[in-house]
Amino acid sequence: MSVKRKFRICGILLVVIPLIMIGCLWLVLNALFALFRPTAQISFAEGLKCSHPIILWVIALWSGVSFLAMLGIEVACLVYLYRSAVSPLKNFEIAMRHLKQGNLEHEFVGSGDAEIQQLCQAYEELRHKLRRTVEEELEREREQKLMLANISHDIKTPVTAIRGYVEGILDGVARDAEQQKKYLKTIYAKSNIIERLAENLSLYAKLETKRIQYHFAIEDIRDSVKEAIEEAEIDAETRHIRLTATLPETPCLVKMDGTAMKRVFANLIGNAVKYQKKGGGNICISGECSEQGILLRVSDDGIGIAEQDLGRIFEAFYRGDPSRNGAVGGNGLGLSICRKIIEDHGGKIWIRSEDGTGTEVMVLLPMRKG
Ligand code: ADP
Repeated sequence: MSVKRKFRICGILLVVIPLIMIGCLWLVLNALFALFRPTAQISFAEGLKCSHPIILWVIALWSGVSFLAMLGIEVACLVYLYRSAVSPLKNFEIAMRHLKQGNLEHEFVGSGDAEIQQLCQAYEELRHKLRRTVEEELEREREQKLMLANISHDIKTPVTAIRGYVEGILDGVARDAEQQKKYLKTIYAKSNIIERLAENLSLYAKLETKRIQYHFAIEDIRDSVKEAIEEAEIDAETRHIRLTATLPETPCLVKMDGTAMKRVFANLIGNAVKYQKKGGGNICISGECSEQGILLRVSDDGIGIAEQDLGRIFEAFYRGDPSRNGAVGGNGLGLSICRKIIEDHGGKIWIRSEDGTGTEVMVLLPMRKG
């Protein structure tokens, strides 16, 4: 029963009961007069006087009983109300104090009353939401720390190598011009790694903090895909990888930032090349239009992704099993950047992969009617 209803019932009782008692008193007195003293008279002219004092006694007794009955009912009502409304409110106040002190484990157990139940539910929802937020915050903090550790590791490794090679040249370890050239080439390659990392980091930070300036326009997405394919062609050729593309024949217009979109496909195709098996393989880029939009796939028959890594590869700095791709360069930012860009374009990106068999990345983007 709701507290409101209880209050209403108590209010009615507190009015109705005295009225019933006064009515009863009236009836009893009339009955007594009629039965025993039909000639009895009560006079109010000079104070309360009665020709038969017993009547006054009856009135006094009845009043006393009525008063005690009313008092009893009132006390019972108050205790009842206190139990059902005030004491849960006190518990609520204690629960709120716990929340204020940051104790998110304290449960608020209400009563069976509807309003208290609602209050209890609202409190519990708030508590769970706060707990989730705190947990997310802790997770974010943990990720940030991990990210910092990863960044410093990814920068330190090539820098240490560069220093070693420079020292080698300065100390005369690289004696002839041929060896010096080899050292310099390695320094160049390592500095490229740092540059790529810095670029990816800066883009990732801009995407995360929404500071990226997209230049949206209605463009044919096939152009961005073709440009990305062209960029990867030489690399694929040297690794004996066959690149094929089957894109729709009619323009696929998408509201997009062409440069960002090209970066997405360059990343995906770059990964398909990077994680190929030794000795070469096949990469296929295809696209098809449907009611939902344009679906683009980048599939390869490379090393694939282990099942335990699949759920995490879109996380920043997450790299698959190092024993499998440790030799391949990377910083684990590529896919997280791709996902962010695709989501900022109102699209979806997901991945299917079988360990040792190959990987397929799918991108779905909303299309504009031409
Ligand atoms: P990076 O390639 O720099 O490590 P990414 O974010 O692009 O970072 O990829 C994250 C991880 O996902 C990679 O380390 C790799 O383990 C896995 N991965 C991505 N694409 C492929 C692919 N086509 N084939 C196999 N593994 C892949």
